[in-house]
Amino acid sequence: MAGLWTPLENWSLQKRFQWRGFRPSAVPLVLVAIDDRSIARLGRLPWDRRRFAQLLDRLEGAAVVGIDVLFSEPTAQDALLARAIARQGRVVLAAARTPTSVRLEPVPPLAEVSAGIGDIGAGIFGENLQLRTALVVPKSPRSDLEVETFGTVIARLYASLAGLSQPSVPDRIWLNWPGPARSLPSVSAIDVLEGKVAPARFADQIVLVGVTATAVDALITPFDTQASGIALHWTVVDNLLGNSALAPWPGWLTGLVAVMSALGLGFLLTGRPGWLQLTITLAWAAGWVGLAVVLFWRSSIWLPLAAPAGALILAGGFSLIEGEQRTARRLEIQRERRKAQQAVTDSLATALVAATGDGRIYFQNPASAPFFPENRSTPFLGEQLQALGWLSAEQWAEAQAALGSGQPSQRQVNLGERDYRLRLVPLSQDEQVGGILCAIEDITAQLELERLRQQMLGMLSHDIRSPLTNIRGFAELLKISPPSSDIELEEMVDPILSSAERVQGLVSDFLALARIESPAFDLKVQPLSVQARLRPLMAELRPQAEARHSRLVAEDWPKEPLIIAADPLRFDQIFMNLLTNALKYGPDSQTIRVRLSLDSPWVAIAVIDEGFGIPDAALERIWEPFYRVKTAQTEGIPGTGLGLAITRKLVELHTGSIAVTSNPGQGSCFSVRFRQQNLAPDP
Ligand code: ADP
Repeated sequence: MAGLWTPLENWSLQKRFQWRGFRPSAVPLVLVAIDDRSIARLGRLPWDRRRFAQLLDRLEGAAVVGIDVLFSEPTAQDALLARAIARQGRVVLAAARTPTSVRLEPVPPLAEVSAGIGDIGAGIFGENLQLRTALVVPKSPRSDLEVETFGTVIARLYASLAGLSQPSVPDRIWLNWPGPARSLPSVSAIDVLEGKVAPARFADQIVLVGVTATAVDALITPFDTQASGIALHWTVVDNLLGNSALAPWPGWLTGLVAVMSALGLGFLLTGRPGWLQLTITLAWAAGWVGLAVVLFWRSSIWLPLAAPAGALILAGGFSLIEGEQRTARRLEIQRERRKAQQAVTDSLATALVAATGDGRIYFQNPASAPFFPENRSTPFLGEQLQALGWLSAEQWAEAQAALGSGQPSQRQVNLGERDYRLRLVPLSQDEQVGGILCAIEDITAQLELERLRQQMLGMLSHDIRSPLTNIRGFAELLKISPPSSDIELEEMVDPILSSAERVQGLVSDFLALARIESPAFDLKVQPLSVQARLRPLMAELRPQAEARHSRLVAEDWPKEPLIIAADPLRFDQIFMNLLTNALKYGPDSQTIRVRLSLDSPWVAIAVIDEGFGIPDAALERIWEPFYRVKTAQTEGIPGTGLGLAITRKLVELHTGSIAVTSNPGQGSCFSVRFRQQNLAPDP
């Protein structure tokens, strides 16, 4: 697992070095560089060892001199160089190991006079060169020898000479690179040899002598892609003497942070909206990166970035999966809820239509179909609510203003024959009115009931109470002052009788209507001759008509009997009603005509009077139970207002029809039509 993150970790650490840049070193160190210029002047390497002897003589005042050049082959000038090394007295020489593990040591005459020998290559290049390096060169497979690195030997020697405490030398250190190779204070070897550099420049300095000429070494550091190996020795010396190597977090702590982060983040992220998850994650990542950078700059502490990043990805992944599951569950619940709502709205008798704020229809239930033009059952979706014409433009504007304030509004509308209650409910969305729910209820029956109730109350309070008051009044009068003559008796008893009759008439009419309207009511239909049935009825009424000097006449009666299928008693009831009305609602001395005609297959029976007539406004309403025209002329004419309601109901039960035309002041014509029957009536 850790291996997985190593490249990422190395990269992040390299970036941290680059962000930080050069770090001034506390160690007095100067490089004598065998650079391109020196080589150009003095020729290619290897140089004659006399030259190194000359160089050492110029470095007399240096605290320690480390020569990063291998002297493993004996030459004629070795004695000369050995003398110079001995003169300087504090010279560290370089050793190395070939790729085949052959050790290249300085030749013995030089090794003997040196102050120490350090390994310049093996081990250093062994592991992760950029970050970590072994300070103690591990034992080679071929020898038991353990050698310290070049930089370590120099640092130890300098510490003991300068009276510093010995640096602690761990097996491996995490290099804290001070900066790019070019920032190492240096002078050119040729300048030193030519005496152009004052000896004071080297006084008490650690002097490293090494090759920086192009293409000799190719060391990769966080700052350089092609540095001289000297840069590594510089870094080791600097880190050991300055005690400034990086302090990495222990692995277990890193693991703990990773696990805690994953758990903590997982907990924080679950159930949050996406933007918040992203913000938390980014904040966490930014915080950790910030901490890593600050610790690195301030205290050279190396905080891992890669492993926590992995934890982050894991936590993010978990919360994502969790979130997905939650969303799926929520969607499922929503689907179920929608199904239930659908079932409810589908089964409602109330028509429901929903529209957007600007009136575009996006939902309708089946009960709403009859309210769309042409009874369209196909959805009207997407069209404008206003276009349905339920409300006038003005009413819409009003309703919309009301909805704007979040209040439902209610209106009663009359569409065709029926009455409806239109309720408009604002559908809020984020506290704003996002649409309109339109509920349409058929309230025709409800209104009818209400009207009946009102009329019943009217009847009770007037038509029943006043005759009862009469009865009681006259009865009490009878009790206190008994009549002294027959005439007086009559004067007292007659009003009682007529009042009782009125109440009785009202009650029996009322019961008759109730009976007719009950589903159990049925007709005893039989073929009958209209003429034969009307004749005795008219005869029965004639004395009543004559009392008022009026006439009842038959008009246009065909000789052939007109046969219809009807219940004889109900037929009588219908015409008794129409004829008495004609008599009642007219002046004395009028002619009431009963006209018959055949308009196949219909038989029409019209009762035409010369009475008061009915005002236009009342024509529709005379069929309503308890409705009575109230004019000066009808004032005082007894009645219940139930007669025509009963009459019409009876005609309709016979599948016939009844209509009225009237000219106020001239008379009315009530015309009843029955279907003709071609059977002969029973004898
Ligand atoms: P009622 O006669 O008991 O008042 P109806 O239902 O028979 O009740 O009549 C309802 C109303 O219609 C009457 O009150 C009367 O005003 C009017 N009406 C009925 N028939 C006539 C008619 N032939 N001429 C004028 N008005 C009539």
